[in-house]
Amino acid sequence: MTARTHDIAAITSLGVIFVLVPMQAITLATFIVAIFANLIGGITPDIDQPTAPLWRNLPIGKYLGKIFDKLLGGHRFITHSILGLVLFGFLFHFLLVFLHPIMPSVNIGFVWWAFMIGMFSHLVMDTLTKEGVPWLLPIPIKLGLPPLKEWRITTGSWVETFVVFPIILVFNAIFYSHHYDQLLYLIHNKII
Ligand SMILES: [Zn+2]
Repeated sequence: MTARTHDIAAITSLGVIFVLVPMQAITLATFIVAIFANLIGGITPDIDQPTAPLWRNLPIGKYLGKIFDKLLGGHRFITHSILGLVLFGFLFHFLLVFLHPIMPSVNIGFVWWAFMIGMFSHLVMDTLTKEGVPWLLPIPIKLGLPPLKEWRITTGSWVETFVVFPIILVFNAIFYSHHYDQLLYLIHNKII
């Protein structure tokens, strides 16, 4: 899937969990940082791709991207697996603990979950594509849904742009209009 689809899938997953899972109040700072962490999590698995948005936007990104591509075993390898989720979960946790002193009003536990939800949504979305995802590494089998490759989506194709992306948008519209009262309650009472 393209970065644009991953962004919207990540933020949609976070929104659904935010509305449906009961939680303690969080600060506005936590809420804002969590949205960024979620979007970063949503594109993190593709750092194994030299053309990933992160690398395209950095001055020496082209070279760094190639190095990471080799280190991580090429595209759709370790960053696209449960092992990768655990690994990046640890790394992101350490980064948050390190950064906490400069952002004391941010609940790093909440931000960590937002990142992981973004990353997980990436793997789910890529599972719907022709290439599939090696969820079970080191077992090198790429899994996909539906099981028949021909029925899956080609990354960047018109199906992704004009079917998958609009479906997620419409889902958001329906979801938030159905849970409008709950959303208002959360904004008024759970963000402080
Ligand atoms: Zn990917």
